[in-house]
Amino acid sequence: MPTYNYKCKDCGLSYSIELSLAEKDSYQPECPDCQSCDVFQTFNRVGVLGGSKTGDVSGCSVSSCPSSCSSCD
Ligand SMILES: [Zn+2]
Repeated sequence: MPTYNYKCKDCGLSYSIELSLAEKDSYQPECPDCQSCDVFQTFNRVGVLGGSKTGDVSGCSVSSCPSSCSSCD
């Protein structure tokens, strides 16, 4: 299941949540700390900068990957 990263504009909390594509469609981002709805999605490219592995397609297949998927370019 893809993991999405969010950051709260109000308190600065960064958090991640696992959502299926269907859940992502209806998910209303809300800060788990201050319950603010002023939350935006961030993309953590952990592992990419390290360059330890290329071609990692875990959690992402071509047929189901949305264009916004953070794990593929
Ligand atoms: Zn917050």
